[in-house]
Formats: sequence, structure tokens, C-alpha cells
Amino acid sequence: MMRFTFEQSGKIVFGRGTLPEVGRYAASLGSRALLVTGRSFAASSGLLQRLVDSLREANLDVVVFPEVEPNPSLRTVERGARLAASKGVDVVVGFGGGSPLDAAKAIAAVLALGGAPSDHLYPKAVEKALPVVALPTTTGTGSEVTQYSVLVDPDARKKVVMQGPALVPRVAILDADVTDYMPGRLVASTGFDALSHALEAFISRRASPLSNLFALEAARIILSNLPSAVKGSREARELMLYASMLAGVAINQAGSTLAHGLGYYLTVHHDLHHGVANALLLPHVLAFYAERVGKVDELAASLNFRSWEELVERVCKLADEVGIPDSAASVGVTESELDRMAEEAMFYRRNIENGPVIPSLDEIKQIYAECYEGRRALLRRLGRA
Ligand code: NAP
Ligand code: FE
Repeated sequence: MMRFTFEQSGKIVFGRGTLPEVGRYAASLGSRALLVTGRSFAASSGLLQRLVDSLREANLDVVVFPEVEPNPSLRTVERGARLAASKGVDVVVGFGGGSPLDAAKAIAAVLALGGAPSDHLYPKAVEKALPVVALPTTTGTGSEVTQYSVLVDPDARKKVVMQGPALVPRVAILDADVTDYMPGRLVASTGFDALSHALEAFISRRASPLSNLFALEAARIILSNLPSAVKGSREARELMLYASMLAGVAINQAGSTLAHGLGYYLTVHHDLHHGVANALLLPHVLAFYAERVGKVDELAASLNFRSWEELVERVCKLADEVGIPDSAASVGVTESELDRMAEEAMFYRRNIENGPVIPSLDEIKQIYAECYEGRRALLRRLGRA
């Protein structure tokens, strides 16, 4: 028996050369725009000026907030919201990777709801936000189609999230020309974020036949195109932009699980890119689930692998091929840290409890210990080295 709900609002505009359409879309939503972006890429590529020109040509007043750091903090959102409120902004444009897009979405929520960013965190649901136009410049997070804004609480040293249907951008403009600027390493790391979204959404408790369509199509595209995208193929990068959006729709419905929940520690405490953190954990998390429930078998079969072990091997080989480090040890994690990592990870219950089985503290320690040892050790254990 099938039973599910599927809600996906927002317009998706996909195509090379669509970036200058931002003015037209933003003008249909407001008259004073806050343009939220990162500190370097937008300006140095010259694209910031093109966006401002497009917005001004559409008769919008524009305030630029080019101050979003990777893994944006609640304080950045607060500063952006204060600036926007002082200028009477009524529409927010986000341009960048997941960090500027998430900051733009959170600023839009704070503007509509008032108060401080920390007043609106999960488990509260964001029910109101200013309209957002999102233009992703990386091929990973899918933030342009999700109801999540992932932020850092710098005092608690934790990733926190704002969540709610009102956070889904009203318009997402996906122009693959922006991916020409991405260094191969960024394509690799953000590609593994998208792959995690796709595989985790499929094995999630909240997966449905409809969210699985998005998850499986995204996984197929990423598994066969990531290496050439990393090497610079424009066609493959366009496909990665498409697949990361599909995977975003999948997690928007089904949520992410353990790879995300356990990866946050590595980002917050070891400054590791979100996609690399997911990549380090993904094979170990898949093996953990596969050894306990049938979901990973089903996932492997849907992707035409003969067994879940073959899927795990493929994910490991792909990570090797695109230069993802082999182990948590190789990115600076120490063995004495593993217990504390597991205890801190328990904070991310939202992700942990969304998986098909809920690991105990000891099992989380075990997954971190395997991740510390690395992929090669995992493949040896599975008899696939
Ligand atoms: P990012 O943190 O937005 O950007 C990483 C770096 O790449 C930045 O230095 C950025 O420059 C640069 N960059 C961006 N686009 C570029 C381009 N086209 N060419 C060259 N450099 C470029 O990376 P991200 O992986 O896209 O986003 C990660 C964040 O998204 C994390 O905070 C993660 O938790 C969050 N996330 C959100 C969701 C969601 O559903 N909302 C899902 C997954 C992850 P600047 O410094 O100039 O910005
Ligand atoms: Fe992610």
C-alpha cells in the first residue's frame, strides 16, 4: 500500500544563459532587493556586476550583502537581516554555493518573522519568509529547491537548521555557465554532497515512491558523470547541476540521514568542506545500514548493482577517483577524539533518527572508528580490496 505526501513549490528555470533573467523574476516579487552572496567568487568572476545590472534594469533598488562565509553563522544572518530591514527590502536574491543560498533564505525568514535567527530554529517550523530568488553556483547542495537553511551556532559549535515550507525559494535559476568557474576539487566535494543526498533520501524513513524517482535519477547521473565533471567537461557539469537539484528535491521530501548527521562534526571541528565530510562517511554509513536492514539492497538493485557490497565498492572507487581523502585520520582526526565525536553527534538526532535503523552511541562510535580507518580498510573487511 502506498501512502505519502509530496510538496514542492517554486519555479525552476534551467538553462545556460538564464542568469540575466534574475531581474525579471525578482521584479515580479518585489521592488527592493537584497543580493546575498559570498565574499570572493561573485565579485572576482564579474558575475556580481551582471546580477546587479539585471536587477537595476528591471527597476529594482539593490542592496548588496557580499559577506557570507562558508558554513554561515547565525551572526552573519543577523547582520544581513539588520541591513535589509534598514533598507526596506522586500525580495531576497541569493547567489552562490549552499552557504550564500542558505543565508539568503534565513535572512528572508528573519525579515518576515522578526526577532533573532536563533528564535526560528528547528524544531520550530518557518511558516513565513520574504520571497527568495536563488541562483546556485556549485553542484551539490540543492538548497535552491529545499526547505532547509543550514547555519552554524558559533557559541555551541554546532550546525543548526531553519526548516519550513516557506523557506523554499520562489524561483530557482540554474545557469550551468557558472559551473565553468568551479575548480575540480569543488566539483568533487559538492558532487559527493549531492550523491549523499540522493542515496540517503532513498534509504530514509520518509522516502516515498515519488521522492525515490528523484533520488535514483540523481544517483545514476552522478555515478556516471562526476569524474568527467571534475576534469572539466561542460556537459558533465551541466548534468551535475541538474542532478544536484534533483537530489535536493529528494531530501526536501525525505530528509538526510547518518552521513549528514555524523559529518557535521568534521565540518565544525575540522573545517572540512560539507561534501568531503559526507564523502568520508558515506561508504561506512551505507555498510552500517546494509548489515541491518534491506533498504540498501533495494537501493543497489534499483541502480543495477548485483549486491549492496558492489554499490559500496563503487562509491569508494568514485571517491578515490575524484581525490577524496581516504580516512578521517588523513584529515587530522585523532583516535583519542572518537568518543567525543560520537557524543557530539548525538546532537544531530534529526538526521540520525531519519535513517531506517537508529544506531546506539556505541554503534556511532564504531562507524566513526571505521571512518577513521578509512575506505581501504572497509573494502578489505567486505572482501573487496
Ligand atoms: P559554499 O560554502 O557555498 O562555497 C564553498 C566555496 O566555493 C566558497 O569559497 C565559494 O566562494 C566558492 N564558490 C562557490 N561557487 C563557486 C564557483 N562557481 N566557482 C568557484 N568558486 C566557487 O559550498 P557549498 O558546498 O555549495 O555549500 C555548503 C553549505 O551548504 C554548507 O553550509 C552545508 O551545510 C549547506 N547545505 C545546505 C543544504 C540545504 O538543503 N539547504 C543541503 C546541503 C548542504 P565564496 O567564498 O565567494 O562564497
Ligand atoms: Fe548536504
